[in-house]
Amino acid sequence: MDIRKIIHIDMDAFYASVEERDFPHLRGVPLAVGSAKERGVVSTANYEARKYGVRSAMSSKVAMLKCPILRFQPPRFEVYKEVSAQIHRIFAEYTDMVEPLSLDEAYLDVTTNKKNMPSATIIAQEIKHKIYEQTHLTASAGVSYNKFLAKIASDYRKPNGLFVILPHQAQDFLMTLPIEKFYGIGKVTANHLHEMNIYTGSDLFKKNKYEMVQIFGKAGLYFYDVVRGVDNRAVEPNRERKSYSVETTFEKDLTTSFAVIAELYALEQRLWKDVENTGKSGRTLTLKIRFSDFTTLTRSHSSEVPLLSFHQLHKTAKRMLKRMDYNAKPIRLLGIGISNLIDDTEIKDIQLSMDFED
Ligand SMILES: [Mg+2]
Repeated sequence: MDIRKIIHIDMDAFYASVEERDFPHLRGVPLAVGSAKERGVVSTANYEARKYGVRSAMSSKVAMLKCPILRFQPPRFEVYKEVSAQIHRIFAEYTDMVEPLSLDEAYLDVTTNKKNMPSATIIAQEIKHKIYEQTHLTASAGVSYNKFLAKIASDYRKPNGLFVILPHQAQDFLMTLPIEKFYGIGKVTANHLHEMNIYTGSDLFKKNKYEMVQIFGKAGLYFYDVVRGVDNRAVEPNRERKSYSVETTFEKDLTTSFAVIAELYALEQRLWKDVENTGKSGRTLTLKIRFSDFTTLTRSHSSEVPLLSFHQLHKTAKRMLKRMDYNAKPIRLLGIGISNLIDDTEIKDIQLSMDFED
């Protein structure tokens, strides 16, 4: 197979950077985009706030304990969507092989490109430069020969970074890479691996396929490949999201109803952020509960019309949870997802017709 040229572009602390750009008094102070309310969640923290340990998806309450002088700013999704459209117009100058991962993140396949430029690194430099010129925001770029490496590379020199992993450098790079930097290995799995004395790519490299499946389940085969620098997934330009879901594996199993309800609420907020991000909501809600013995319960509920507000989503999830027998065993993982998606314009139509019905 020919060697591909893949760029991963990722805006730096996106929502927070947009707020700092538009409101000068917020610059240089610890800032979280999200709701300061008791049950709120941090969407994005700026780098000042990250110094205090504030992270995205953290509850606002915990964030304020970590950083008492933290400022909260409500999100402005309309503005973020506009910036997203701006950067996508820049991508389109080079290639149509663009696969968005979210509003501020995308893979570009520039193996062949509209400007016939041989160097992906120079393309990445130009794109970063144009993004800054047109939006006054910084992006980080990773350049490599597959998606996995490009994604890791964009994270490697954040913020405002550009990092290139050439084919002959990949194996050495992966060997020394801490396993928590592997895309797809979360905090809980990383801790678990540390307990098994696995700290770096080279520790992972020593495991055979069978052991990898034992550690990671189905994902084990993927990790077996990527630690060898192999990832043949194509950049898929028109990938339509069919569903959204979020889930959390807990450091400590949940043993009380209160904890389950609170954690589910935080997940509902994360899921609703995805809905707002994309302007697509859905008719079907799915809950997933995995117990400490790895048995899993899933339940789905579909309604006639898509869920149109966070309140509706929360009410539906609460009702579904009540009907599930979740108190019997400690819970290690909770998940919630939305599917049967309907897009923005249709949602507006439904909202309008409901307004008239009222
Ligand atoms: Mg980003």
